[in-house]
Amino acid sequence: MAHVDQKIEGMYQEVLKRNPGETEFHQAVLEVLESLGPVVSKHPQFLERKIIQRICEPERQIIFRVPWQDDKGEVQINRGFRVEFNSSLGPYKGGLRFHPSVYLGIIKFLGFEQCFKNSLTGLPIGGGKGGADFDPKGKSDDEVMRFCQSFMTELYRHIGEHTDVPAGDIGVGGREIGYMFGQYKRITNRYEPGVLTGKGLTWGGSLVRTEATGYGATFFVNEMLKARKDSFAGKTCLVSGSGNVAIYTIEKIHQLGGKCVACSDSNGIIYDEKGLDLELIKQIKEVERRRISDYAKTHKHAKYIAGGNIWDIPCQVAMPSATQNEINGKDAATLVKNGCIAVGEGANMPTTPEGVKVFLDAKIAYGPGKATNAGGVATSALEMQQNAGRDSWTFEYTEKKLEDIMVNIHRNCFETAEEYGAPGNYVVGANICGFIKIANAMVAHGLV
Ligand code: GLU
Repeated sequence: MAHVDQKIEGMYQEVLKRNPGETEFHQAVLEVLESLGPVVSKHPQFLERKIIQRICEPERQIIFRVPWQDDKGEVQINRGFRVEFNSSLGPYKGGLRFHPSVYLGIIKFLGFEQCFKNSLTGLPIGGGKGGADFDPKGKSDDEVMRFCQSFMTELYRHIGEHTDVPAGDIGVGGREIGYMFGQYKRITNRYEPGVLTGKGLTWGGSLVRTEATGYGATFFVNEMLKARKDSFAGKTCLVSGSGNVAIYTIEKIHQLGGKCVACSDSNGIIYDEKGLDLELIKQIKEVERRRISDYAKTHKHAKYIAGGNIWDIPCQVAMPSATQNEINGKDAATLVKNGCIAVGEGANMPTTPEGVKVFLDAKIAYGPGKATNAGGVATSALEMQQNAGRDSWTFEYTEKKLEDIMVNIHRNCFETAEEYGAPGNYVVGANICGFIKIANAMVAHGLV
C-alpha cells in the first residue's frame, strides 16, 4: 500500500472489505487508485463528491441461472453475470466472457477496467462486462447454441442499444454473438442491431471488428516505438494466446515488418524460428477449432513445447494476448534480461503488479491493456455508429478510423503522464486520462 496516496488508502481498504475474495477486482482497483493521488490533489471536488468511492461500486450487478440441456439430454446449470459498472459516458459497453474461471470477481475486474478503457477511446460508451462460467471447450455447436439461447433468455431484459451493449470476449466470438442475436430478436420481435456488437457482416456487423483488438494493440505499440525513434522493422516478437486477439496481433506485426516467432494456448507453445505461418494458425484455430499443437504436425521445423513458458523465449517485443496474470514478476525479469524493449497488452490485465513494477523500473515501453487493447471496443463503438446510421463502411475507412483512435489514445496517455510528472509511464497516463473524463461527467450529472 506504500504507493497509494493517504487520502485514497482508506477507500481501497473499504473496497477490500466490501468485496471479499474478489482478488482480481482488488488488483484492478489498486492499479488505478495508485495513480490517482496527484489527481485528487488537483481536483478536490472529486474527493468532496466521493467520485472514487462511487466509481468502485458498480451501478448494477445481475447474477442469474442459466439452465440448458447437453447433447445427452442431461440438464446443466451455469451461472450468468452482467455487471453494469458506469454509464456516465454512454450506455454500458463491454464483452461477455464464457470460461470456467468466471465468477463475480473476474467480471468486476473486467467491468472496472472497461470503464477507463472506454473513456480513453474518446467515444460515447460507458463500462460493463458479463459472462458465464460455461466452458465452450469440447462442446458441440448445438450445445453452444442452446447455452447462448438460455443465457439471452435472461439477459435480454437488461440490455438495449441505449442501455447496455454486450459483445465478445474470451469464449465468445461471432458464432456465439449470432446465436444470442437470434434469440434476442425472437424474444423481443425487434431487429435491433445496436444491441450487440461483433455481429456478422451481413446482419449489421462492422468490417475490421474481428481484427480490431489485435490491430489496435499493434498500432499502439508502434506509436510507443515511434516515440522512442524506433519501429517494428526486423524485431523478434512474442504473442501469447492464439485466439482472435493473438491472431490479428500477429497479422499486423508482420504487416509492419516485425517477425513473430511464438504463440500459445493453455496446453503449450509453438516456436517457429522462421516466423509464424499465420494462414496455418487461422486454419487450425478459426476454421477447425483445434489445438495449436497441430501446427508442428504440418511444419516439422517448428517446435511444440507442451506446458512451456513463452516468456522464456528471447524477444524484443512481447504482446501478451491470452488472459489475466499471465506474466509474473519472474517472467517480466526474464523478458527484460533477454532484451525486450516493448510490451503491449492485448489481453486484459495480463501482467501481475510485480511484473508491471519490473517493466516500469526497467523503463521499457510498457502499454497497459486498458490503453493498448482499446481498439476492440472502439471498433464496437464504430459498429454502433454504423448501425445507428443504417450504414456500412469500407475496410480501409474503418481501419483508418481505428488507427487514428489508437494514435490519439497513445498521445493522450503520453501527454497526461508528462503533465502529472511521470514521463514515459503509460500506466499513470492511461489511468489518469481515463479517470478524469468519467469523474467530470459524474460531477456534472449530480449525485446519481
Ligand atoms: N471484450 C473486449 C474488451 O475487453 C471488447 C468489448 C466490446 O467490444 O464491447 O474490451
